[in-house]
Amino acid sequence: MVKSYVPETLKETLELLDKGKYQIVAGGTDMLIQNHARSPLPINYKNDIIYISNLEELKGITEDDDFIYIGACTSLEEIMEHKLTPKLLKDTILEMASPAIRHTGTLAGNIGNASPAGDSLVTLYLLNADVQLQSLNNTRRMCIRDFITGVRKIDLKPNEIITKVIINKINFDKAEFIKVGPRRSDAISKLSFAYGITFHNNQTIDFRIAFGAVNTTVVRHPEIECQYIRKTKEELKESIEEIITAYRPFIKPIDDQRSNKAYRRQVCENLLREFILEL
Ligand SMILES: Cc1cc2nc3c(=O)[nH]c(=O)nc-3n(C[C@H](O)[C@H](O)[C@H](O)COP(=O)(O)OP(=O)(O)OC[C@H]3O[C@@H](n4cnc5c(N)ncnc54)[C@H](O)[C@@H]3O)c2cc1C
Repeated sequence: MVKSYVPETLKETLELLDKGKYQIVAGGTDMLIQNHARSPLPINYKNDIIYISNLEELKGITEDDDFIYIGACTSLEEIMEHKLTPKLLKDTILEMASPAIRHTGTLAGNIGNASPAGDSLVTLYLLNADVQLQSLNNTRRMCIRDFITGVRKIDLKPNEIITKVIINKINFDKAEFIKVGPRRSDAISKLSFAYGITFHNNQTIDFRIAFGAVNTTVVRHPEIECQYIRKTKEELKESIEEIITAYRPFIKPIDDQRSNKAYRRQVCENLLREFILEL
């Protein structure tokens, strides 16, 4: 029979993880669905469970000169309402699920779930977010792009948990997250798109693009982005077809119950074109 533990401190949690194999549950909004028994039977977890959602040490948001630190157990709703949260991340969370789910679910849970359709991931990739990972005897920090290694795959050791999500303080001139779903809220993305752009002396000094739900992980390619630094708006507009062509090999969506490949590919290209044309 599966046992569940509700530790009161982070130390207690890490000591448990150091000794045995557990499934971490934060808000449980992904875990409950994935492990749901297709019958009236109780939820079917594979390992013993550690509930971490009441760990006060992992709640709240702080800052220093360069970064914002979001505790792993801070709810999505609290992050969305917090004055330190970047507008782009607030706008993204507003499009996620419903208020009830956002009051329970966490940003660390969205990362831990590593779904190709995880909405916050698109924005976190765009913002070059890091995760802080902690075990009993070690703390390490990793860029989200390296931490997520595939569909529902993350580089988390069995004795570690995510303790913080760390976001660079960046001010773009213009940034937006666009979710394409069957309705405005409480719907899983067919695809998503985010951009951030900044100019100095009429030339780009920062140019970032990310797509969600069209490959195994978020599509972001700094090596393409850097080719469009020191460009004027006019030069970017002249390069639209070239930019679309550069991203085309990486837009590899699947057909599923929410949409099909052809629609997803076409909408990605339309959103990219629209973003540049409207600069
Ligand atoms: C009705 C509904 C609507 C939804 N809509 C959306 C949506 O619009 N967009 C979207 O992106 N998602 C959506 N989701 C999915 C889900 O709500 C989010 O992914 C949420 O952010 C998960 O957070 P959680 O704390 O509930 O994660 P949990 O379910 O607790 O955990 C998810 C995974 O992360 C791991 N994990 C959690 N916290 C940690 C930690 N601190 N350290 C290490 N691993 C950890 C868990 O072990 C598990 O593998 C929806 C879910 C439901 C039920």
